[in-house]
Amino acid sequence: MSVIQDVIAYVQEKDAGQPEFHQAVKEVMTTLEPTVAKHPEFVKAKIYQRIVVPDRVIMFRVPWVNDKGEVQVNRGFRVQFSNAIGPYKGGLRLHPSVNLGIIKFLGFEQIFKNALTTLPMGGGKGGSDFDPKGKSDDEVMRFCQAFMSELFRHIGPDTDVPAGDIGVGGREIGYLQGFYKKIVNNNGTVLTGKGLEYGGSLIRPEATGYGAVYFAAEMLATRGKEIKSKVAAISASGNVAQYTVEKLNQLGAKAITLSDSDGTVVDEAGVDDKKLAFVLELKNIRRGRMKEYADKYKVPYYPDKSVWDVIREKGLKVDLAFPSAHENEIDGSSAQALVKNGCYCVSEGANMPSTLDAIKFYQDNNVLYGPAKAANAGGVATSGLEMSQNSMRLSWSREEVDEKLHGIMKSIHKACLEASAAYGKPGDYLMGANIAGFIKVANAMLAYGIV
Ligand code: NAP
Repeated sequence: MSVIQDVIAYVQEKDAGQPEFHQAVKEVMTTLEPTVAKHPEFVKAKIYQRIVVPDRVIMFRVPWVNDKGEVQVNRGFRVQFSNAIGPYKGGLRLHPSVNLGIIKFLGFEQIFKNALTTLPMGGGKGGSDFDPKGKSDDEVMRFCQAFMSELFRHIGPDTDVPAGDIGVGGREIGYLQGFYKKIVNNNGTVLTGKGLEYGGSLIRPEATGYGAVYFAAEMLATRGKEIKSKVAAISASGNVAQYTVEKLNQLGAKAITLSDSDGTVVDEAGVDDKKLAFVLELKNIRRGRMKEYADKYKVPYYPDKSVWDVIREKGLKVDLAFPSAHENEIDGSSAQALVKNGCYCVSEGANMPSTLDAIKFYQDNNVLYGPAKAANAGGVATSGLEMSQNSMRLSWSREEVDEKLHGIMKSIHKACLEASAAYGKPGDYLMGANIAGFIKVANAMLAYGIV
């Protein structure tokens, strides 16, 4: 067996019961096959075997009290996967589906994504199976304080700097930073995605969505196409989805779908800026459901259906797809339906939203496929810019941050194309992203010796 197959088999045996982590390792490792022959030094130093084992896994109990005075117990996680090129960096996810395997898949992906950003950030991820949905602000605050009462001892500006992810937005980051500041007596950069009043960066909330659109624009340009006038399907209605729609509108495209875990809205006239302002208020302030959008704007709503189900069942025509909800939301049959209905470009806002079958289908059908670790890297890149501004004790303007974000997305696109060409599969963004990110981290690991 090749080194690569050995590593995949080793993970499947040793990390049993973690299917998402197995999937992420398989996706990355398979594309690294051409690096084995070119880099015997990586094989000798067992870089492939070492990179799939986290530096450290932290699991802890999070007890808190709900509004009725009842004790609740959740599980907390922080996986510090690799700090080879900088402090651990990666979001915190609060969702009932969170378990060790999911946090490990996210942390593993984050290593390569962060390496691609051009900034010095290692890979980590964390979270809890706490469900913020339906909880009062006070309950969310008490949970965040209980979570931070353990996490604080493992993080720090040069050690590990978490950020948001599913279920963690501005409200949660405020509670987490507030409690950290109180118990450590230090208001340093231990989190990004902070409010502007206490060290946040302009454009951070927008960055992941904007970045996914910038990445799509770069991919389209390789075929002489542009974003303007294209019709796009977006899943979810959270942070990434919201700002994907905003940037699509700015560039003259039309976003025709949004969703949440209850169902999908189709608005063929397009989610214009006014309707988007309604979504922001609905989701970020009132914390309501997308059905209200369908009721207000009198457009079709499909309960219990994902965007991809609706495209398949209703034959909805789209040029572009921006999956922005969760892992494995597009399977092989959804990918087939997308392509059948005209889609030729997929830019992943969510992490690992396409199954391995879906990816194979895109690649076999000449779809421009921007994998998550490249297409959604704008969020963590701008977190890196937030860290830089905090270190320098100054703030850049909106325009400066957006320009830097745009520049980073272009350089990620270029790095993917260069690596895919250098390793024999020109235009394969998945292979390009994995190899470009891996080589940087592997060289750093070699430099350190056996540690
Ligand atoms: P968010 O603001 O919490 O929004 C999550 C959205 O996805 C909501 O609309 C949610 O619907 C939907 N969703 C989540 N789990 C779902 C499920 N199991 N079934 C159906 N819908 C589901 O989170 P976000 O920050 O936008 O993150 C979305 C994705 O982007 C995640 O994969 C995340 O890892 C990735 N990502 C985020 C960032 C970032 O900067 N935020 C950066 C890189 C990647 P409900 O409200 O009904 O749950």
